[in-house]
Amino acid sequence: MNGLFLEFRDPLFSVIIFFVIIFVIAFFSYWWGTFKSKRDYRHLNKFLKQFNALSSDNELNVLIRAGELSEKSWLLLAHSYFKSGDYEKCITIYSALLQSCNEENYKETLFLLGRTYFKAGFLERAKQIFLEILKNNPRTPQVLYYLLLVYEYMRDYKSALEVLEPLKELHKDISADTVYLKCLSTLHDTKISIEEKTKRLLKLYENSHQLTYLIFEYLFRVNPELAWKHLDNSQSELLSDILWHVDKKDLDLDIIAKNGYLRELYTARGDVDLATKSSIFEFDILINLKKKASATIRFDYVCTSCKRVYPFAFYRCTNCHAIDTSRIEYTLTKDYHRDFSEENNSFQ
Ligand SMILES: [Zn+2]
Repeated sequence: MNGLFLEFRDPLFSVIIFFVIIFVIAFFSYWWGTFKSKRDYRHLNKFLKQFNALSSDNELNVLIRAGELSEKSWLLLAHSYFKSGDYEKCITIYSALLQSCNEENYKETLFLLGRTYFKAGFLERAKQIFLEILKNNPRTPQVLYYLLLVYEYMRDYKSALEVLEPLKELHKDISADTVYLKCLSTLHDTKISIEEKTKRLLKLYENSHQLTYLIFEYLFRVNPELAWKHLDNSQSELLSDILWHVDKKDLDLDIIAKNGYLRELYTARGDVDLATKSSIFEFDILINLKKKASATIRFDYVCTSCKRVYPFAFYRCTNCHAIDTSRIEYTLTKDYHRDFSEENNSFQ
């Protein structure tokens, strides 16, 4: 009978006790970890619910003044709201912080509020805030730059160009902004004729060799003949989507025949038969298909500065505000336009 039980001094008994202790410790630490994470989650949830349930600025003011969170934490929270596009909450936090923050952080918080108003589309409010900051701190490049953007979005190009002066004095590179604002000012000037606009745009292009896309998009739209005449062949690839959409009757076959890229592009589109292959995969497929399938090219636009992809062309990236940083990417896609035309013709 005694053989069924382990004796107290039996080494096997010590081993079993050892493993039992390890098991108890492991189980306890697992339980404690789960309990702690659940408690933290509940606390965080409760804390965040306060913000979701905020109904007025007063409540937020009370919360900020209660000092449960430091000013830095509130700024971080507002920044995360800004990143996620919840500008309303972001504005509420900055506005409340401005009523209690110290003088040191006042200017910075005011700028952040102005930037949020700008992002949210409240341009007039953003303008007033930036002007207020600049009243006492005129040499603040970041604020000047956002004021320039506000004027640009408001289509007040004269004021935007005026903002470039102090930026130039602060040794900031304003060459792209200058050409861009002058182009926009010309394009939106209702008092000058199309001929005058094209003349001014071409002059800007010849002097700067910037904003090729913006200028040639307008030229190909209003005067394709003039656009072909001034087209720099080395820039053709930059304008591939504009060239792809040029009307067949407006094509300049002499210029196309002389340029390798244009030969491939228009052979892929099916207007000419001047190329048998292309180094661009999408062109190569279309050249080999020879219109046997309803396929075409879709263009996407990538900002080379911040890598954001847009489904439409842009001149100034709305994300990083860089100018002339659009790079075109091609994708083969179904040609719905051709399908639609064929369907319509079959009914005739
Ligand atoms: Zn960008």
